[in-house]
Amino acid sequence: MAQAGHHQILIVGGGTAGITVAASLRRRGPSTLDIAIVEPSATHYYQPCFTLVGAGAYDMARTARPERALIPPGVKLVEGAAQGFEPETASRSRTATR
Ligand SMILES: Cc1cc2nc3c(=O)[nH]c(=O)nc-3n(C[C@H](O)[C@H](O)[C@H](O)COP(=O)(O)OP(=O)(O)OC[C@H]3O[C@@H](n4cnc5c(N)ncnc54)[C@H](O)[C@@H]3O)c2cc1C
Repeated sequence: MAQAGHHQILIVGGGTAGITVAASLRRRGPSTLDIAIVEPSATHYYQPCFTLVGAGAYDMARTARPERALIPPGVKLVEGAAQGFEPETASRSRTATR
């Protein structure tokens, strides 16, 4: 069950990889899976088009989309930046609560 500040799956970074992993888990995983993405930017840029922008063949504004509009349904967007990873601490606290 989702709790404030706690999720079963927390994806750091809502770029192409993060959004794709979230969508795949949502589609293939159990429907009850509680997934969130942490992303500091309100805008997602489609980077492959940057090459065309540099060549003057594509409009930079068209590479941008609101991040929130790309988050798969049923996935929570946490607006902010991860400050660090502490897997050993998380592992210890999970063991302690068993
Ligand atoms: C000029 C250019 C041309 C390219 N052309 C192609 C191409 O033709 N074909 C192709 O397949 N690929 C291409 N790529 C590569 C493709 O764009 C990248 O492989 C892809 O965007 C990588 O996805 P990603 O999610 O790993 O990183 P990104 O899409 O960069 O996403 C990383 C996310 O992490 C977030 N983030 C950063 N710090 C934090 C933090 N502390 N906490 C939480 N979130 C954080 C960022 O805001 C960002 O949204 C191109 C890239 C560039 C730059």
